[in-house]
Amino acid sequence: MDKVIFLDRDGTINREDGYITKVEQIHLYEGTVPALRMLNEMGYRIVIVSNQAGVGKGLLNEDELLKINNAILKILADQGVSIERLYYCPHHPDAVVPVYRKQCACRKPATGMVVRAAQDLGVDVRGAYMIGDKLCDMELAYNFGGRGILVLTGYGTKEQALIDGKPYAPVYLAADILDAVRWIKDRD
Ligand SMILES: [Mg+2]
Ligand SMILES: [Zn+2]
Repeated sequence: MDKVIFLDRDGTINREDGYITKVEQIHLYEGTVPALRMLNEMGYRIVIVSNQAGVGKGLLNEDELLKINNAILKILADQGVSIERLYYCPHHPDAVVPVYRKQCACRKPATGMVVRAAQDLGVDVRGAYMIGDKLCDMELAYNFGGRGILVLTGYGTKEQALIDGKPYAPVYLAADILDAVRWIKDRD
């Protein structure tokens, strides 16, 4: 069976910086490239799933978002990292841009982006890891039958305090993405 892993973008692979609206705000964490290389070497197909409500909120348009996404993918590709897909959700229930104002099926913790990845890649996502810095990432993992790993970068430390009593507790609390991937490697 093909191995697939889902990664959040902001606060997980690149530094959280509020809404990222410019290429200049992209700063990968130190451990990101080694972590993603390890995943590639272990045979994981990497899929990035990112809520980008800043689009619906009018802070950047989709073209600008694509530039940012492509810049991240290019930095990673230049370092020999292969990313299978990057999906984003531009929607928000309170979006100011009408076309993006909706209760969509793709905004995490809804599973739309993961379902699409499963179809596009022809993979079974059950049991797959989802690494992210927010509880919505953990809840997404729960919703698709995956395993959430919360990184303590980005909003991770803040979000960690809110886990208590939730049904979607992470299987591991990782210092950062590299720690998360090393933990996976130990169990692979
Ligand atoms: Mg995040
Ligand atoms: Zn959406």
